Amino acid sequence: MQGRIHSTESFGTVDGPGVRFVIFFQGCPMRCRYCHNPDTWDMNAGHAESTESLLAQYRRNAVFYRNGGITCTGGEPMLQMPFLTELFTAAKQEGIHTCLDTSGICFDPEQPEPVRTLLTVTDLVMLDIKQINDEKHRALTGHSNARILQFAEFVSACGAPLWVRHVVVPGLTDDPAEHEQLGEFIGGLRTLKGLDVLPYHTMGRRKYEEMGIPYPLGDTPPADSAAAGQAKANIMRGIKKRLRA
Ligand code: SF4
Repeated sequence: MQGRIHSTESFGTVDGPGVRFVIFFQGCPMRCRYCHNPDTWDMNAGHAESTESLLAQYRRNAVFYRNGGITCTGGEPMLQMPFLTELFTAAKQEGIHTCLDTSGICFDPEQPEPVRTLLTVTDLVMLDIKQINDEKHRALTGHSNARILQFAEFVSACGAPLWVRHVVVPGLTDDPAEHEQLGEFIGGLRTLKGLDVLPYHTMGRRKYEEMGIPYPLGDTPPADSAAAGQAKANIMRGIKKRLRA
């Protein structure tokens, strides 16, 4: 099988535990206003690559990945479920730690079986929950968050370890009450292993300029680490509230 791949990174350190071989899948149905990878959106761009060729690249530097593994990110890897499942299955046969970095948007609660199968060969799911308020989520990404939240609950129900990530964007995702609400939601996910709260940055702007498309957050300043720290504290308060309930 061949997947549609945007690019790979040999020594990733921010996409899961340890040093990782990071595979950026091509194609994404979301249009997050703060996306810094707009070049991964088009499903017809990128190049075709096989499981074997990707694993061969991993093996070349395997010694560096002893505490890491492979991360599939994007774009949206779950757009290519059969290929993603084949890749992770082959990786697990070689004892490689597998991490799926996803928006969860492709989850269909009416047809969960392919995802259940994928989770049997996924060691860690890193899930971006971009906005707990559905109306604001639609404005931010072009989609409802309903399937994303259902995906989080499904991952947890399947017993797969889950790491939630949230980006703080001034004026869009920085409401303390919404952070607490997000915490109350993720506090109900029994396989939650980690929470990353990141400040929005503007480093993606250059790619938009190169692609000749307007940068959607032109007037939005970057967030600082203090804002991210405060947001994390508010999310933690929500988690504790849920755990006490
Ligand atoms: S889900 Fe990720 S890749 Fe897709 S638009 Fe949003 S930030 Fe960009």
